[in-house]
Amino acid sequence: MTKQRQKRHVPTVGPYGFREDAPTLKAYLASGEYYRVYCKYCRRWHTHSPFEGHRLAHCDDPDSPYAPTGYNLVYAGEFTLAVWRRFSDVQS
Ligand SMILES: [Zn+2]
Repeated sequence: MTKQRQKRHVPTVGPYGFREDAPTLKAYLASGEYYRVYCKYCRRWHTHSPFEGHRLAHCDDPDSPYAPTGYNLVYAGEFTLAVWRRFSDVQS
């Protein structure tokens, strides 16, 4: 079996580890370079460095529920059109 020369993303946990009281969100690797996470409060995608673990919320809204704790990122796969649709169709 020949394998295409494709760099497989192996998620690693970043320097901040995981924060137990923070929510955990799915992160998707975009362009092999960064994580995108859909924020249901901002209704847009926040961009982060491609490693798992705790981050400060990238929300513009200081009243975002994520603001006090930030959130944890876990790698959930490639950022594809299907992923984009799945989240963006949810107009909750
Ligand atoms: Zn946000």
